[in-house]
Formats: sequence, C-alpha cells, structure tokens
Amino acid sequence: QAKKEGRNTYQFYDVKLDKKTFERLEIENELRKAIDRDEFSLHYQPILNLCKNQVTGVEALIRWNNEKLGTVSPAQFIPIAEETGMIITIGEWIFSTACKQLKKWENEGFALSISVNISIRQFYQPNLIPMIESILKETNVSPEYLTIEITESMTMDVETATNILQDLKELGVNISIDDFGTGYSSLSYLKSFPIDYLKIDQSFIRDITKSKGDESIATTILLMAHNLGLKVIAEGVETKGQLEMLKKHRCDEAQGYLFSKPLPVEELEQFDKFKETKTTT
Ligand code: C2E
Ligand code: MG
Ligand code: MG
Ligand code: MG
Repeated sequence: QAKKEGRNTYQFYDVKLDKKTFERLEIENELRKAIDRDEFSLHYQPILNLCKNQVTGVEALIRWNNEKLGTVSPAQFIPIAEETGMIITIGEWIFSTACKQLKKWENEGFALSISVNISIRQFYQPNLIPMIESILKETNVSPEYLTIEITESMTMDVETATNILQDLKELGVNISIDDFGTGYSSLSYLKSFPIDYLKIDQSFIRDITKSKGDESIATTILLMAHNLGLKVIAEGVETKGQLEMLKKHRCDEAQGYLFSKPLPVEELEQFDKFKETKTTT
C-alpha cells in the first residue's frame, strides 16, 4: 500500500501514517483479548447532591490496563471498539460489572445509583434493550438506580432515538444527556425526549468564574433544564469557586476532582462521603 516512489516528503508522510496505523492495529489486536484476559476494570466517580452535600451516585468509567500497551485511555480505545464492533461485547461487560457492583453495595447497605456511559453503536444496536433487561434481572438491581448516559450526537435521528429512549424508560432506568452543549444538534429534541438529567460539559465549567460568557451558558442551561423539569449535573468541577457559582445558580448535582477522581472500588469505599451513603437500619 505504501508508495514506493516519490519524494522524501511523501515517504515521511507515509512512515508517520504507518506508525499510526500500526498503533491502531496493535490496540485493536490487544482489545480483542482484553475481556478474556480480564484487563478491564471500572472506576467510579462520586456524584454529589449540592443541597444535601451528599453522594447520590457514581459514574462508572472504564479503565484498560494492558501488558504491552500499559494504560490506554477510554478516549483512545472506545472509538476503536466502536469502529470494530467490539463495543457490543465490552458494553455488555460494563453493564454487567456495574450492576453486580451496585447490587453488592445495596446488600452492604449503601444507598446510591450508578451511571453508565453508552456509545452510539451500542445505542442503535437492536439488542440493547433485551441486554439491559436481562442484566437487571440477573443481578436483581432496581432499574431506578441505573442511569444511562448518552450524548447529543446520538439524537440526530430524532425518531429512532425517541423510540429507543422510550423503550429504555419503560425498563424504568433514568436517562442523562452527557457533555451537554458540545453537540451540534437542535434543542427541540429536549421537549420530546423522555430524559431526566442534563450534564453540563466540563468545557463550560472550567472558566465559569472568569468568563461571563461561560457563566451565561451555564445559567441558561440551568434555567432551561429546570423549566423542562430536568435535573442538572455539572461535570469537571475542580475548584471551590466553581462550586459556589454552581450552587448560587441552583445546580442540582456535581462531580469533579474537587470532590474525587474516579476511583477503584476499594478506594471509593474509603471515601468519607461514600461511607455516608450507608443507611442504618
Ligand atoms: P465522560 O463520560 O464525559 O466522562 C467524564 C470524563 O472526565 C472522565 O474521563 C473523567 O475521568 C473526567 N473527569 C472527571 N472529573 C474531572 C475533573 O474535575 N477535571 C477533569 N479535567 N476531568 C475530569 P475518562 O474516564 O478518561 O473518560 C473519557 C470519556 O470516555 C468519557 O467522557 C466517555 O465519553 C468515555 N468513556 C469512559 N468510560 C466509558 C464507558 O464505560 N463506556 C463508554 N461507552 N464510554 C466511556
Ligand atoms: Mg459520562
Ligand atoms: Mg461528560
Ligand atoms: Mg466527555
């Protein structure tokens, strides 16, 4: 496939391209074996209710540690899993692992919910609903404790998306729009979609105390969401100033490094605000 002739510049370009292609192939090959080799894990990031200052749930975020490649970030391998279709198997592993963990916590007396991210191919896969339904059944998890995070880009095909979301709602799970404000989709879907939460993308939170523009965007999202009966979660909250600003504008919930990074189970269980979710009976 490589050009055998041509000037050095072309060859240089080809070499660079080949290196990228090679890396990608390596990720793809290793990804195929990752589930069998038990290389994935889920980390959980606490989500806090800002009125009560309490953890209400956690977001499950996948981690991959491979012998050859080391730690590969989901931003890098999820798109490859998408393109190759491996996301279907990986996605099922994520749901199953998250629901088992949720049940374990419930049995130990912790009252909280779990948010699980899904990607576009998963969303439009016909087996999505039966898959989630059977995992809920197997793990005996109550659907109201499960939230599914989708992104605006998945809502382009409004009619199909509405049908899928309605089927999900019939299962009893909650729906959250992740990275809200970064997509290019029209806002009109908000009134017809059966959704529960909007997550303000971290790019609007970052400079919320310094940029009037970002503050306006955040407050406008909050006003609109509340008028539509939706709750709002702020992502990527890192400073006290950002938190105060969000509280002032009545943001419902928040997550970010200010409270905690995404943590493996054992570490999360040491986090004070997580321990407080334990209900004494
Ligand atoms: P996301 O769902 O929007 O997740 C939020 C990302 O922001 C996470 O990155 C999280 O670690 C990071 N984050 C949380 N708090 C802060 C903060 O205060 N500051 C900063 N700078 N970052 C913060 P992560 O885990 O690398 O995931 C990146 C993206 O990869 C996710 O974005 C999601 O789109 C995707 N992803 C992660 N796990 C899964 C998964 O299990 N399934 C699917 N389909 N996608 C996933
Ligand atoms: Mg998310
Ligand atoms: Mg997000
Ligand atoms: Mg994101």
